[in-house]
Amino acid sequence: MTAHRPIRTAGDLAEAGLIDASAEEAISRVASRYAIAISPAVADLIDRADPHDPIARQFVPDAAELTLTPEERADPIGDGAHSPVPGIVHRYPDRVLLKAVHVCPVYCRFCFRREMVGPQGLGTLTPAELDAAIAYLAAHPEIWEVILTGGDPLVLSPRRLQEILERLGAIEHVKVVRFHTRVPVVEPHRIDADLIAALKSSGKATYVALHANHPRELTGEARGAAARLIDAGIVIISQSVLLKGVNDDPEVLAELMRAFVETRIKPYYLHHPDLAPGTGHFRLSIEEGQALVASLRGRVSGLCQPTYILDIPGGYGKAVISASSIEAEGGGCYTVTDFRGNAHTYPPQG
Ligand code: SF4
Repeated sequence: MTAHRPIRTAGDLAEAGLIDASAEEAISRVASRYAIAISPAVADLIDRADPHDPIARQFVPDAAELTLTPEERADPIGDGAHSPVPGIVHRYPDRVLLKAVHVCPVYCRFCFRREMVGPQGLGTLTPAELDAAIAYLAAHPEIWEVILTGGDPLVLSPRRLQEILERLGAIEHVKVVRFHTRVPVVEPHRIDADLIAALKSSGKATYVALHANHPRELTGEARGAAARLIDAGIVIISQSVLLKGVNDDPEVLAELMRAFVETRIKPYYLHHPDLAPGTGHFRLSIEEGQALVASLRGRVSGLCQPTYILDIPGGYGKAVISASSIEAEGGGCYTVTDFRGNAHTYPPQG
């Protein structure tokens, strides 16, 4: 049955057959802390007969979210430590995040910004805050790339997006604009001519980083939405989170990366899950992640290889964490391991 409006409460979830009525009380407690939204397209994708459905696991709240562990933190990747003005995160010298909105069309249960997004989150920048954020970008000539994230920037109307992007377009030293979004997957019908024209209105090189974690998310409609963006000259790269019970399986991960490449989306980042509160049930060890990523080598084309990264807790930025396939031996020799796990010697430089 196709729903026509987003699911936002424990009652909605029970009515849609996504939780048992007996779970409503616990899920209401989750809802009082973390936002809930499941778009109609995502609700349709959920297999209600499968108690371990990987789509449901990403979006249907679970009582496990009420369990906090000592290592978890409200701001796991340390945005706050690098925010000179509201809405700006300036962590790396040549690029910034511009967070104009803190709402999303769906709320992922593992979200690394779950304390900032949603109706009780940081909200939308006021006109004065947006002016200050744009003034910050203009005053910093080292800023080459602006990454619109949030929240999901594509929830803004085409008119609002165009207003912001035209202001970015007027800043000479900004050469690249990137959007981090789930909209092409979770609300594919919104990728229409007006929205695409707005996304391109900065006149800069325009990239979309599309967030999806399971191959079933790349439906025909989602692939169509991605194709409309790509055919309009927007480059799409992927970003996924490695999640226990969703994609922690070599075949699922391979299928996801192949689905991106078939859709002309270049696999970009595979994130190790962050230490966001109440998300311990999604986290796997770094060793498990490294083994999964190593399993992609040889299994799928080089085009399908993402970079496995960890955002270092505290705001120190990203680090590549794939296991190395090369080890230095004595005398300038190296041992290199091939995709079948066989070791080979590489000679010293002559
Ligand atoms: S779309 Fe991004 S910001 Fe929004 S809930 Fe999901 S992970 Fe968080």
